[in-house]
Amino acid sequence: MHECVSSCLIIETARPYSYETHLHTNRGSACSPQDAKAYINYYLERGYSGIIVTDHFFNGNCAVSKELPWEERVRRYCLGYHEAKDEGDRLGLQVFFGIEYNFDCDEYLIYGLDEAWISNHPEIMKMSHHELFRTVDDAGGLMVQAHPFREREYIPAIHPHPYDVHAVEVSNSGNSLASDERAYAYAKSYGLPMTSGSDIHFIGQLKEDVRGISFDHKLTGLQDFIDTIKSGTGYSLVGPKAIMIPCLTRPSLPVDEPKQQNDILYCQKPYL
Ligand SMILES: [Zn+2]
Ligand SMILES: [Zn+2]
Repeated sequence: MHECVSSCLIIETARPYSYETHLHTNRGSACSPQDAKAYINYYLERGYSGIIVTDHFFNGNCAVSKELPWEERVRRYCLGYHEAKDEGDRLGLQVFFGIEYNFDCDEYLIYGLDEAWISNHPEIMKMSHHELFRTVDDAGGLMVQAHPFREREYIPAIHPHPYDVHAVEVSNSGNSLASDERAYAYAKSYGLPMTSGSDIHFIGQLKEDVRGISFDHKLTGLQDFIDTIKSGTGYSLVGPKAIMIPCLTRPSLPVDEPKQQNDILYCQKPYL
């Protein structure tokens, strides 16, 4: 578990079994030039025990043509995972499957819906946040709001959805420290478990800033990952040894009110 010292979050690599939680390949993600197989040695060299492939889904920056029949789209979308899995099995790195689902630049990492499930449920494309969350939850999966406070020119606003997620990604290699700090304060103020991920798109992108989650034991499978994150204990966030003091500054983008309550999202007193 990450160590909290008053208002600070210390991200540390304290546990022996580390896993990448947010990774893109050229098969599923149009913004990734990376052949999936090469990730295996990259993560083995850094002492990782596994990775979860989370390519951009069909509603995001997906590499798969929209013109194809649904089953073929799903098959092609999953190729990055399969290529990584085959190489991982050969070289000794665990490889799991996830997706990164997009609602207009408001993105979610979903773990626990597999290829067969997606093939059988094309209606996943038409779901609201709440319907998707209920669906993932009913399937025993995990839905994580990815980099919720990221600020980029293509993102029009910040859309917090604290009631439709199991956890929040508070540490992302593609974010500024300020965005991660706000995400941390957001997760903390709603009592949501936290995750960390690299959001890696190609080898060489991160220098040494590889993130993830570490555990005391080797995961028995993806369900072990899901259940542990949902419990909010028994894991550490992997990242730079930065001390994060949340809520120092407000984001420059507008922040939507969350649907269910008008709770304060950031700069809440206990975290100042
Ligand atoms: Zn991308
Ligand atoms: Zn991503």
